[in-house]
Amino acid sequence: MKKNNFLSMIRRSTTISSEKEFWSQVEKTEDCWIWTGLQNEALQYGIIFDLDGICWGVHRYSYKLCYGDIPKSFNNGRKAFILHRCNNKLCVNPDHLYLGTQSDNMRDHYRSKGLIVPSEFIDPIRSMKRDGMTYDAIGDILGVSYSTIFRVVKGKGMYGN
Ligand SMILES: [Zn+2]
Repeated sequence: MKKNNFLSMIRRSTTISSEKEFWSQVEKTEDCWIWTGLQNEALQYGIIFDLDGICWGVHRYSYKLCYGDIPKSFNNGRKAFILHRCNNKLCVNPDHLYLGTQSDNMRDHYRSKGLIVPSEFIDPIRSMKRDGMTYDAIGDILGVSYSTIFRVVKGKGMYGN
C-alpha cells in the first residue's frame, strides 16, 4: 500500500485563498485561538499553503496577517522565529505570538539529553523532507535552524554522530 503523502494531501485541502478562509478554521476562545484545520499529528503544528504555493506554519501565517512581513533575521543576525507566549502550538492568537530567537533554555534542555531536537520530532522531520518541504520551511515551523533540520535529515539526530 502506498504511504500517504502528507504534503500533497495538505496542498489539496489547505491552500488558503483569503484571510477569511484562514480565520474560518480558527476557534477563538477568551484566551487562545485554536487552529482547527489540518495539522501534522506527530508534530501538532498546523500547516497551510498560500496561493503562491508557500508552506506556512499557521502561527507564522497569523503573525504575518496581523503584523506584516516576518524579517529573516533578528537580534544581530540570529534567525528570527515566531514564538508562543502560551506554549500552545496550535494557538494563532496574535497577542500570544512574538518575534524572537530560539530559546536558549529549550536548546539546553535537548542538549542535556544529547539530542538536537526532541526525539519525537525526528521521524516527522524526515518524512516532511521526503515529501518535498525545504529545510528552511521545516525549521521555520518548528523554530529551529536550517542546519538543525539538515543534521536530522542526514541521520544526525544526536550530538556526537
Ligand atoms: Zn495562545
